[in-house]
Amino acid sequence: MAAATAAPRAARRVLRGRSCNVLLSLLGPQRFLSTTFKASDLQIELTKDPKPKPDPGNLIFGKTFTDHMLTVEWSKEKGWGKPYIKPFQNISLHPASSALHYSVQLFEGMKAFRGADKRIRLFRPMMNMDRMLRSALRCCLPSFNKSELLECIRQLIHLDQDWVPHSDTASLYIRPTFIGTESSLGVATSKHALLYVILGPVGPYFTTGSFNPVSLLADPRFVRAWMGGVGDSKVGGNYGPTIYVQNEAANQGCQQVLWLYGDNHQITEVGTMNIFMFWKDQQGDLELVTPPLNGIILPGVTRQSLLDLAQKWREFKVSERIITMGDLIKGLEEKRVKEVFGSGTACVVCPVNRILYQGKNYHIPTMENGPEIARRFLKELTDIQYGRVASDWVLQV
Ligand SMILES: *Cc1c(COP(=O)(O)O)cnc(C)c1O
Repeated sequence: MAAATAAPRAARRVLRGRSCNVLLSLLGPQRFLSTTFKASDLQIELTKDPKPKPDPGNLIFGKTFTDHMLTVEWSKEKGWGKPYIKPFQNISLHPASSALHYSVQLFEGMKAFRGADKRIRLFRPMMNMDRMLRSALRCCLPSFNKSELLECIRQLIHLDQDWVPHSDTASLYIRPTFIGTESSLGVATSKHALLYVILGPVGPYFTTGSFNPVSLLADPRFVRAWMGGVGDSKVGGNYGPTIYVQNEAANQGCQQVLWLYGDNHQITEVGTMNIFMFWKDQQGDLELVTPPLNGIILPGVTRQSLLDLAQKWREFKVSERIITMGDLIKGLEEKRVKEVFGSGTACVVCPVNRILYQGKNYHIPTMENGPEIARRFLKELTDIQYGRVASDWVLQV
């Protein structure tokens, strides 16, 4: 601490008598590295062979990518480089890169929607930027200016705008990614990193236009996230190991995993979605309930948006609190449970109709109840996303 405060004092003395260059050299180059990249520095290289646009009707999620990508490099020595928009291409990594060995890696998932007015909109994109920066700091990757990144993404989408489907059910998926590229096997803060963003058109989640309910395996032997861990960050290491559990669910005839936590089998998330229950609580009051952001829940943009909408409606109680399998089963036995659904960018809301738990199948009457609330959420959010209703939750591209 003494050394840190001594330098500026000495520098001020020097500055009074001499030139500013002396000050710069005295403090060393490190202090003047840019702490962010800037959209105004964007370097754009256009593709020479644009790819044909796919038919939005038969897109498989995550398999089709647009013509361009955004990349920004960072190093401890040089700070942030200029952001580049360039033809979509492979990246070259040192085989010892920290992202590959220790999962120094994080990502985001967001969408751009084309309205009937042909305009393209992003939905609450600053919430994704906030979450991405939190994930970066948790991975000891460098900070950046969130508005500058959002502006770079906006320009990337603008360039590849023809890839945003002309459809009120399809959209353009946006995958910001940030990886440690340190070429050393030491488990330590990366001194090199690469932030990049790729885009791809995605079709509707529910192909038939009507809800497709999912069945869930709830097996307390598997844990997605734990107190003090990183379940509340979108870091790659949270997802790779879940594929095994997802396959286990499939083997047992279920479509997704219901993640439980703790000895009391708390309901936390479903697959890569947050979870909501609409029911009559023990006192007989209608309540929308979702687990609280206590460290093991990913703070979903959709989750927050459903809470915000329901609070605005003021028609029933809205709670963020712990729900256990015991609470759910008691509610089912007493016929108080109306709807259970997941929430996320991919589907907005996804109804649940069955849970396999401790060898027993529990039917969830979500579809029998409309699902009234899930359907209303879907309509209100997609009306905003596709610009049918004006809202300050959208940013035009
Ligand atoms: C991304 C994600 C969600 C949903 O977040 P949205 O911002 O609503 O898309 C929920 N749970 C997990 C585990 C996730 O990774």
